Amino acid sequence: MDTFIVDPIYHIDMVKKLYTNSELIRAQRSSINNRDHLMRSVSCGCYSCETIMLANSITDWKLEDDGGMTAICPFCGRETIIGDSGMPMKKIFLQEMKKFWTEYCK
Ligand SMILES: [Zn+2]
Repeated sequence: MDTFIVDPIYHIDMVKKLYTNSELIRAQRSSINNRDHLMRSVSCGCYSCETIMLANSITDWKLEDDGGMTAICPFCGRETIIGDSGMPMKKIFLQEMKKFWTEYCK
């Protein structure tokens, strides 16, 4: 494992929500069948364990029914990895994703 991209830790309840629900829903879609996306990303993040890592540190993939590949987090084993889409992966983004999807899935 190489260097990690360090981002300041924010407490999500103390800051205004930075992302819209539609952005968070769109981001969730990119955690499925995301091999091509991750091949184009430098960093990626897991919104289950909120770890930011280099995209090339993903080594486990789940084969989907349609033949696509979904990244598996090397830290928590969940399929909740999102590539950086050309923007630096931020801890606050992962925190908002986690909060949104935890509440949404209740
Ligand atoms: Zn994880």
